[in-house]
Amino acid sequence: MASRRYTILIADRTSGVVRRVTISAGPAVAVACAIVTLPVLIGTGAAWKAKSEAAALYSSNQSLEAENSNYRGATAALSEQIHSLQTVVADLGARSALDPALARAVEKLPAFVKNRAMGGSAPATASVAQQSAYASTLSALASPDDTFGLLRNVLEGLQSRLHDVRYMVERRNALAAATPSIWPAHGWLTSRMGSRLDPVSGGDDFHAGLDIAGEKGQPIYATAAGRVSQAGYQGGYGNLVVVDHGFGLETKYGHLSSFTVKPGQGVKRGDVIGRLGATGGATGYNLHYEVRANGRLLNPLQLLTQQKPRAQ
Ligand SMILES: [Zn+2]
Repeated sequence: MASRRYTILIADRTSGVVRRVTISAGPAVAVACAIVTLPVLIGTGAAWKAKSEAAALYSSNQSLEAENSNYRGATAALSEQIHSLQTVVADLGARSALDPALARAVEKLPAFVKNRAMGGSAPATASVAQQSAYASTLSALASPDDTFGLLRNVLEGLQSRLHDVRYMVERRNALAAATPSIWPAHGWLTSRMGSRLDPVSGGDDFHAGLDIAGEKGQPIYATAAGRVSQAGYQGGYGNLVVVDHGFGLETKYGHLSSFTVKPGQGVKRGDVIGRLGATGGATGYNLHYEVRANGRLLNPLQLLTQQKPRAQ
């Protein structure tokens, strides 16, 4: 069957010429369809392109968010580290406060006692070269990951240094607690350390400590923290208490009338360890008090933080 044919007339109004175009139905429909569907196709293409762009944006946004959350995590870890450092620093500040008089007493201890307290080996500090190496590495780093990693290392270094400092402060505080810094008895200083005339023979005699005269039964105090190593009768000392303070430091309290501590007992500065008496070679009611470092005599007056013994 032959397809239908259509004739389109095109007339020119001015010249009166009429042109005729005859076409068959198939191509006409095709052309009409093409004219109608073209915008739809263009629209669909644009929509598809927009959609794929949106998907790309979405995925890049997601990767940025993931990166962002990584940094948030790293930042949180760093600020936690900084917070713990601040706690250590605040704690150190509180611990490092030492009574100035006691600090002076500690300073007067022989060098070997102080060295013993501090262990002799101070932990190494980051050198200037190391610090400038840190700084230049830090500025050369392009990636934030590297920067976080380096900051973490720097903080860890600081943390371990602070722990070393805290250890040193604790050792120094232990030495301060072990420094014989208070008067062992109330009363009157009747004899100092050094050469004096022997009250019995009249010859030259070396006095190993202080004599503090008082009344029988008055309390005798431990002058620093330590452990009682001896509480018994010993020749000229009479009833004697010896306190071992560690770091080679030792104090002796002689001529006591009685003891209030036993060997092995721990004492704090100011604890009562016995009662004043006149046992042994005492010429009257008085305390004989000695301080030794590795067995060597120290002048107790140099370590005292108070001027005079208070008369009771
Ligand atoms: Zn004496």
